[in-house]
Amino acid sequence: MSELPDFSRNLMPFMADLEPDEAGPDPSEISARYGVPLEKIIVLSRNENPYGPSPKVWESFLGAPLHRYPDSRRFLKSVSDYSGFPEENIIIGAGLDEIITTVARLFLGPGDKALIPVPTYNLYGLATRLCGAIPIYRPMLHGFGIDTDVPRDAKMIFLCYPNNPTGCSISEQTVRAVAESTDGIVFLDEAYAEFAKKSLIRLVHRYDNLMVARTLSKAFGLAGLRLGYAVAPAWMAREYRRVAPLFSISCLSLAAGEAALQDLDWMRGSVRKIVSERERMSENLPCANPSEGNFFYVNTQERSKNAFGRLLRRGIIVRDCSSFPGSGEHCMRVTVGTPEENDCFLEEYEEASAKLSK
Ligand code: PMP
Repeated sequence: MSELPDFSRNLMPFMADLEPDEAGPDPSEISARYGVPLEKIIVLSRNENPYGPSPKVWESFLGAPLHRYPDSRRFLKSVSDYSGFPEENIIIGAGLDEIITTVARLFLGPGDKALIPVPTYNLYGLATRLCGAIPIYRPMLHGFGIDTDVPRDAKMIFLCYPNNPTGCSISEQTVRAVAESTDGIVFLDEAYAEFAKKSLIRLVHRYDNLMVARTLSKAFGLAGLRLGYAVAPAWMAREYRRVAPLFSISCLSLAAGEAALQDLDWMRGSVRKIVSERERMSENLPCANPSEGNFFYVNTQERSKNAFGRLLRRGIIVRDCSSFPGSGEHCMRVTVGTPEENDCFLEEYEEASAKLSK
């Protein structure tokens, strides 16, 4: 019998060394593996909002025209009102992730370079590689500062504020210096803006090479519906629309997004609760980096892989950061959950740390 050819030879070469899956362990698998009841599993690995979306979101589903292709105009208008930018400057996508991968396709081709200060969100590097381009991972400066000296050949620069996974800030001066020192495109990810002290979105008015992207997955509690947007110079938004998938956001998501953006009191209420828990946790976690997001970057005494495994056995899922380029072997990321979830985490973490220092 003749042997089948190895069809996997057709895979793109970068597939051989892609980073591991971001999604993390599945709660039901952890429940079965360690005998922790599923309802007791605490997921603090995805920077989700434990309070969920405005109750108005549920009402918005009724009567949605499911038999039609989605019409995004009302959502676009709501994003425009919320962001204060006209619709010609707004891009929407099925999650900020879709915007990141689409923007990369717009500007990066085989052999192009994208500058990525690390540690940061892993998708920037992946999206770059998916275009056949090369991520230049440059370690952040001491205290997670960004070197504003951009290599001449960088076609894109990915910045994130508050930065995932470190939670750290970035100054307006830094973003300006980066935008002014390059002919490339600066992509500023503000996924966690509502939890932060400031937003730099208005800089889009000043720089024709700057795009600022946001999501409804975090402060608005809509991670399951996949809704992101970005504010960009009109020329960039126009080009983006030419390559973006036409109907990637479902009509239920669009309706939900519109409803969520009309109930800002709900969003602000849940942000207040999360920020107040963040402050409480930071007092109890001296090994955590100060954070402007809904998560902490925690330095672990032992290898983060071990700390992660120990928490997992107790049914607490956090994010081991050893797979983030530039993060090293001693950091994990922990989402700010409900007060009860945070207490469980703090208890387990303190107990383990105490044992280690004996
Ligand atoms: N950017 C950053 C920095 C993130 O942390 C995340 C989600 N983890 C995203 C983008 C993706 O957001 P979305 O859920 O809208 O795809």
